[in-house]
Amino acid sequence: MNLGIQNKTVLVTASSKGIGKAAAELFASEKCNVAICSRSEFELEKTAEELSAKYENEIFWIVCDLNNPSDIKNTVENVEEKFGGIDILVNNCGGPSAGFFEELNEEKWNFGYEQVLLSVVRFVQAVLPNMKKKNWGRIINITSVAVKQPIDNLLLSNTFRAGVIGLSKTLSNQLAKHNITVNSVAPGYTLTERIYELAVNKAKVTGESHETIIANMTKEIPLGRMARPEEIASAILFLASEQASYITGNTIQIDGGLYKGLM
Ligand code: NAD
Repeated sequence: MNLGIQNKTVLVTASSKGIGKAAAELFASEKCNVAICSRSEFELEKTAEELSAKYENEIFWIVCDLNNPSDIKNTVENVEEKFGGIDILVNNCGGPSAGFFEELNEEKWNFGYEQVLLSVVRFVQAVLPNMKKKNWGRIINITSVAVKQPIDNLLLSNTFRAGVIGLSKTLSNQLAKHNITVNSVAPGYTLTERIYELAVNKAKVTGESHETIIANMTKEIPLGRMARPEEIASAILFLASEQASYITGNTIQIDGGLYKGLM
């Protein structure tokens, strides 16, 4: 199927690994101009080299700490200079710290707010002028199934990702007249370093092994396994496509049936 996004410019944030990297890979396979960013020059270079070799596509990379507003501005300016205005923005971020209410001090709340919610605000602010000029745009936010079903010890995620959904829905209304769609994906448990990190953290509290914790998490999933990162990326790619031109203001959960509600 021709997705109609060949030669479009896409920026996937927090994308040297995991779901962000899998999304960047699918855009590269569609012959988009792909830009990736994260904090680690080493990881970025490795990912860019791997994807460039596989898809014969130049992958542009730039170091960016999502908690740093001037890094965000600089990233968008550099990608625009390299490829022209950004057509597709995929807002990803590192997973916020785990913790129950009593474990989270004000510093952690502020950090999580800037990491999860404010980074999306800042990237959208930076890419909008060019999207409006082109009268075409796709903004896709990677959140979590926690926006539908909060996860007990992930207070920061439960709180600020809900904010991303509120922002997303409001922006979808305001940007529709510019032919810019705004949607979110809500992954369930996905096999990346993040899930391993969460299991290791929990193991310290419960005294179980992280393998047992991962096995118990998997038991909650009707499909009986965790997602592969590319299964989340496929939905992101579709939301960016011409075929998804009438979808805006939506949140799609991709969780193997983990969420137990009706809607
Ligand atoms: P991951 O840990 O595999 O990858 C995270 C990426 O973010 C890495 O490239 C890392 O370098 C980058 N990053 C982290 N902090 C950054 C910062 N301050 N600035 C720039 N880049 C930064 O994580 P993942 O599993 O791919 O998760 C991606 C997002 O999806 C996270 O927000 C995570 O919480 C969320 N999520 C993950 C799962 C899961 O089961 N893996 C489930 C639901 C939601």
